[in-house]
Amino acid sequence: MSNYDVIILGSGPGGYLAAERLAAEKIKVALIEKQDVGGTCLNVGCIPTKTLLNSAKLYAHAVEGAKFGIEVEGAKVNWTRVQAWKDEVVARLRRSVEFTLKKEGVDIIRGWGSLAGGHSVVVRQAEPGTGAPAPEASSAARGARSSADAVPPPAEVRLDADQIIVATGGSPILPPIPGAKGNPVVLDSTGMLGLKEIPQSICVIGGGVIGVEFASLFSSLGSKITVIEMMDEIVPVMDPQMAMALRNALKQVTFMRSTKVTAIEGNKVLYEAKSGEKGAVEASVILMSVGRKANIEGWGAQEAGLEIKNRAVAADARLRTNLPGIWAIGDVTGKSQLAHAAYRMAEVAVADILAVRAGTKSAAQFVPETVPWALFSLPEAAGVGLTEREAVARGYEVTVLKTPYAVSGRFVAENGITAPGSIKIVVEKGTERILGVAMLGAYASEHIWGLTLALERRLTLRALREMVFPHPTVSEVIREAAWSANV
Ligand SMILES: Cc1cc2nc3c(=O)[nH]c(=O)nc-3n(C[C@H](O)[C@H](O)[C@H](O)COP(=O)(O)OP(=O)(O)OC[C@H]3O[C@@H](n4cnc5c(N)ncnc54)[C@H](O)[C@@H]3O)c2cc1C
Repeated sequence: MSNYDVIILGSGPGGYLAAERLAAEKIKVALIEKQDVGGTCLNVGCIPTKTLLNSAKLYAHAVEGAKFGIEVEGAKVNWTRVQAWKDEVVARLRRSVEFTLKKEGVDIIRGWGSLAGGHSVVVRQAEPGTGAPAPEASSAARGARSSADAVPPPAEVRLDADQIIVATGGSPILPPIPGAKGNPVVLDSTGMLGLKEIPQSICVIGGGVIGVEFASLFSSLGSKITVIEMMDEIVPVMDPQMAMALRNALKQVTFMRSTKVTAIEGNKVLYEAKSGEKGAVEASVILMSVGRKANIEGWGAQEAGLEIKNRAVAADARLRTNLPGIWAIGDVTGKSQLAHAAYRMAEVAVADILAVRAGTKSAAQFVPETVPWALFSLPEAAGVGLTEREAVARGYEVTVLKTPYAVSGRFVAENGITAPGSIKIVVEKGTERILGVAMLGAYASEHIWGLTLALERRLTLRALREMVFPHPTVSEVIREAAWSANV
């Protein structure tokens, strides 16, 4: 039995940030990871997808450069190099996270962790590659992967701590569509990242953030893309008008909305539209991107008596679960499926744990309403707070300020006057408080934090109007939108 102050299950953005912050406070931390440090985000999520999208953007610039006086003859995609660059970026960042954790004194323990009653955790070796728990403890000989920084576990080790943080993350959903399971043509997002060549055609099932990012990526690289979405509009988190503008901007992608996939036969996706029309889309690859689920199974959650609500570990605003001494953060809580939300949850849980240890009370809380989102398609989109429709549904009387990106000199210089881009600010009538912002266009993901601050601090339109923005920048569209109506 080894004793720690805090054990953390899972080393994604939530787990590794919590470990780093706690260790910086001289707390003895064990961080248990069955696969790669960095979790989904660093290894098979945010980072690899954005690295690939950047290569696609460079290619698009090379192809479209002539308009700006830059002619690149014979521009082509070297997919092997694109993939190698993505792998280099991921490996470098992973090493850097591992280095920081080690420097802070965190013990990284490789293997499958399970709650084992009270504040104990049992760690068994995991299958290399898949991270699945080895069937029996005696399978130690097979050996879990371990890096130079990691403590290699014996067959089974029992750890004990004052407090536990559960940060087991999430994984892709494979819906029960006939013909999907076991079909080698059907890939999830992780499978897409490992493609050895650019597919001629891809049928994307699910037009959410992940599906649209892959659609944008591969359409920019020359694949023929069809996105099938069951809802009336893509990307449900987006303002519907902005989502429509995004669809129009992704010219090479065919979007089929209000359409349900009924079955998959080999590389054919059978569908039925709301109108009753039936048909099939044939593609070399089928991406299943219908959503992600919280990882709540296989690590003793139910046996320990953790409350599960809406298929996720229930946690309050301080990320406390129903069991004293156990916190849950990140995707596993179902509060959000974003890495930066996991970071914030880690900070809130750490603040609470430090307060408990000091016999004080933490005021920090996780506030989902002001977590921004970003979609890194080409063009990109981002938003925070309420959409116009959500604000109205909540009973607000609103003023909507909308401005095209073409008002920005820099935007026009870099993209042209007809390039897609717009911003929408939703303001409460009377108080002029900013309720939500949606942006579609260059750098949206870089600008949205400023609007997040505005929402966090409950700023009014006046505050935005009085703020000075550097010129010429695309961010000036925010100021222009704020001044676009006489409110
Ligand atoms: C393709 C894709 C693109 C994405 N892009 C973005 C983006 O651009 N921006 C963004 O904010 N978010 C993005 N996300 C979402 C983001 O990756 C997740 O929200 C984030 O990783 C959640 O962090 P987490 O710490 O909760 O869990 P995870 O990152 O899922 O990490 C959980 C870790 O726990 C480990 N684990 C699970 N169970 C056990 C166990 N029993 N024992 C030991 N270890 C265990 C897992 O192996 C994993 O490493 C993307 C996701 C995908 C799939």
